[in-house]
Amino acid sequence: MPAKKLTVVISQGQGKNPARRNLEEDIAAALIMDPDVDVSLVPHLYDMSRDHTGMLFLRSVPGDLVVLSWLYPRATRWILDRSDVSGQEGISLLKDEDADDEEEFQEAAAKDDDKDRVAAHRNGVPKRKIYCIDLRAASGSKPFLDEIRRIARENTVQTFDLMQWIQGTPKPQQLERYLHPDRMLAASKATPLGDEENGSATSVASPDLPEPTKRRWYPVIDYSRCTNCMECLDFCLFGVYGVDGQEHILVEQQDNCKKGCPACSRVCPENAIIFPGHKTAAIAGADGEVAGLKIDLSRLFGAPNAIELAAEERDAELVADGRTAVGLTVGIPKRQTENAAKPKDALDALMDGLDELM
Ligand code: SF4
Ligand code: SF4
Repeated sequence: MPAKKLTVVISQGQGKNPARRNLEEDIAAALIMDPDVDVSLVPHLYDMSRDHTGMLFLRSVPGDLVVLSWLYPRATRWILDRSDVSGQEGISLLKDEDADDEEEFQEAAAKDDDKDRVAAHRNGVPKRKIYCIDLRAASGSKPFLDEIRRIARENTVQTFDLMQWIQGTPKPQQLERYLHPDRMLAASKATPLGDEENGSATSVASPDLPEPTKRRWYPVIDYSRCTNCMECLDFCLFGVYGVDGQEHILVEQQDNCKKGCPACSRVCPENAIIFPGHKTAAIAGADGEVAGLKIDLSRLFGAPNAIELAAEERDAELVADGRTAVGLTVGIPKRQTENAAKPKDALDALMDGLDELM
């Protein structure tokens, strides 16, 4: 029985930053010769629609998966989940210097947590592991290659029937891509934007492939934190949120979201709403630490001046749409409006300081 190969997917950065492209290509070029690994390139995860070929490919992967991207791991995990690429959280040993402290911080927070999170009620999450790795976690390709090979060694011997893991009825061109990701990679390296003949994952010209990606802006929900309180649904006046068949909150109309505005992430009492492209690390999906300071994010988000700021940001979008500003009068829970009326405390001072640092 042949050993199962580990699937590694590199999600390309937005734009054409040469340093980023070099790192992506160095990692891909080293892994393409590795007998234990299948490596593929896809466009930036956040920008791919659910039916983009890259997302279709990700959904077709049956076993353990390593995803490298220019995003915080938490953001990557929940962007994938949103497109039904789900699994158990794989723990990467590729850590920043402060990772041990951060782990202790997370463990301490978890011990105190008796809240009912949406993730505990979601059915059908596969047992396979998904390892999300931030390409900003180290410099040079070696640390990433070492970590991928460590994960590959952990992979158990297992095979899959081909037709089990090809979901749906892929077109011949798509099937070829899944069966020979090395050819896809070679084509991609030859012409970064690809074409039909080359069959690159970033191809933009083929009539058989979905639309090219465009820059997007929408909230991503971390269901391991979300308590389904629906405060975001009440707060957003642009029809972005909805509920699924199990009455769980979901991002229903992602393209209704107002570009650059992170207002609802400030309102969420659990810091469960991520805007992966926001310049503030905590809003972009960083865990536990902002600007070198260990802070309780659940206190930071939903803090009084955050609510006021969120209301101001929402008003600006309402006015830009020709609608009337509503301030703190609509969609803000009573406890938060009461808090907003209180004088600033030490936490507000911390937030003001952090805003200046960003
Ligand atoms: S406000 Fe936050 S915790 Fe509440 S439903 Fe929305 S995402 Fe979940
Ligand atoms: S950022 Fe604004 S428009 Fe976008 S989902 Fe949140 S409240 Fe709605």
